[in-house]
Amino acid sequence: MEIRQLLRDYFGHADFRGRQAEAIETALAGRHTLVIMPTGMGKSLCFQIPALMRATPVDAGGPRHLTLVVSPLIALMKDQVDGLCDKGIAAAFINSSLTRTERESRYRAVGGGQFDLLYVTPERFRKPEFREVIGRRDVGLLAVDEAHCISEWGHDFRPDYTRLAEFRQLLGNPTTISLTATATPEVQLDIVKQLGLADDDVELIHEGIDRPNLELRVEHVWGRDEKLEWIERTRREHPGSGIVYFTLIKTLLDFSDRFRDLGVPHVIYHGELPRTTRKDVQDCFMSPDSELMVLATNAFGMGVDKEAIRFVVHADLPNSMESYYQEIGRAGRDGEPSICRLLYEEADLATQMEFLDWRNPSADYYQRVWELLVNEREKVVAFGLDHIRDKLPRHDHRLETVMSMLDRYGVVGGKFSPPADYQVLKDLPIQLGDEELLDRKRLRDQKKLLALVQYAKLEGDAKAYIHEYFGLRVRED
Ligand code: ADP
Ligand code: MG
Repeated sequence: MEIRQLLRDYFGHADFRGRQAEAIETALAGRHTLVIMPTGMGKSLCFQIPALMRATPVDAGGPRHLTLVVSPLIALMKDQVDGLCDKGIAAAFINSSLTRTERESRYRAVGGGQFDLLYVTPERFRKPEFREVIGRRDVGLLAVDEAHCISEWGHDFRPDYTRLAEFRQLLGNPTTISLTATATPEVQLDIVKQLGLADDDVELIHEGIDRPNLELRVEHVWGRDEKLEWIERTRREHPGSGIVYFTLIKTLLDFSDRFRDLGVPHVIYHGELPRTTRKDVQDCFMSPDSELMVLATNAFGMGVDKEAIRFVVHADLPNSMESYYQEIGRAGRDGEPSICRLLYEEADLATQMEFLDWRNPSADYYQRVWELLVNEREKVVAFGLDHIRDKLPRHDHRLETVMSMLDRYGVVGGKFSPPADYQVLKDLPIQLGDEELLDRKRLRDQKKLLALVQYAKLEGDAKAYIHEYFGLRVRED
């Protein structure tokens, strides 16, 4: 079978998008590949089609190849796998959402040679049962999705991703395809290194944002009234579906009220809406003939692949060039003229600086929380994290950052809402106790934000600036 035929027969698409075919051919030729492509463009196909091509051995009696997909997102795993199964592809996932019985039966199936594609989180490799079972399979291709999670400099660092070189070895060093929506040259190098590969072992397939139909604009504004006017104007001038991004839910709700008063139809989406409501909003927005404006926080977007999005407005400054690039990448996938408008207000920078502080607690802060969890267990059990919050100097969101990092590093486990039932499993890892390291991380975050501020103040070519930031050659035209 040919890859184009698989694309049609299994996925029902007429043509490849962007550089998909190149990525697929590279991986099939057995070369390690790093794919950088905006969210929603179709990175999954870049490993799904090779997985299908590889599944059936040339000599019918040979072992069935398995493509192992490492992904950090439990929530998206099920959807992807369901989608594949609907198409008649033998795919499965193993993660913590399964019951023990389900998990054990999947292990047996995998060990017994079933499935062409298996999705797991990197944490799965902590389990000896999994390592044993996967060791019995011939893993022809390893796909590392959301590969920026490997990099400490990436925005979604996941400690277990740093063990991928070790996992690759366990799997017999299979051809590896890594995929991400954003990676600066620094993060690209880090990905390659963490995979245990050398720079020139890896083919880079970078999609870029060189889409002539996107118009990038920055407007300097003052106050909410002006923001409202710009959003309204963008909507009028570019009729159709659009996304307006906000940083804070509170602000989003305020704008929603204002638009309601003006009689402007819209829907809202943020992380505090019930799951079912969020799903309804997303379905409604995605439906091919709806033309809706959605006011959203950055919680919106994952799994949104509507092609006809006419405008993406950022009503507030996002937290980094990386986030901005991801979010505008959703506009105009159908190739029709679309606008990406950033409304820049000096005051928004202060909000982002504050968030940046919250995302970067000091070593002392980590230490203090860890000690409280250990030494004041009884009170934490009774009152939950509120007890810890009361003992800390300021009430802000640093505690959330600390808890999520402790969880990612496997320092704590269990439940923290009262009556809490938790375990402290180990000491603070060096990465969370080293002031110098944490300072470097903070500095990176500051640079990413600064890059966006510089973009907002740029006089020159916006796309050229973005290309340079992400290490792409500047267009020649
Ligand atoms: P990403 O991982 O890059 O965010 P996905 O792999 O989840 O993107 O794909 C997003 C959507 O794009 C999916 O609904 C998929 O069916 C669709 N898609 C992928 N490739 C193509 C193609 N060549 N033509 C049309 N649609 C495609
Ligand atoms: Mg994806």
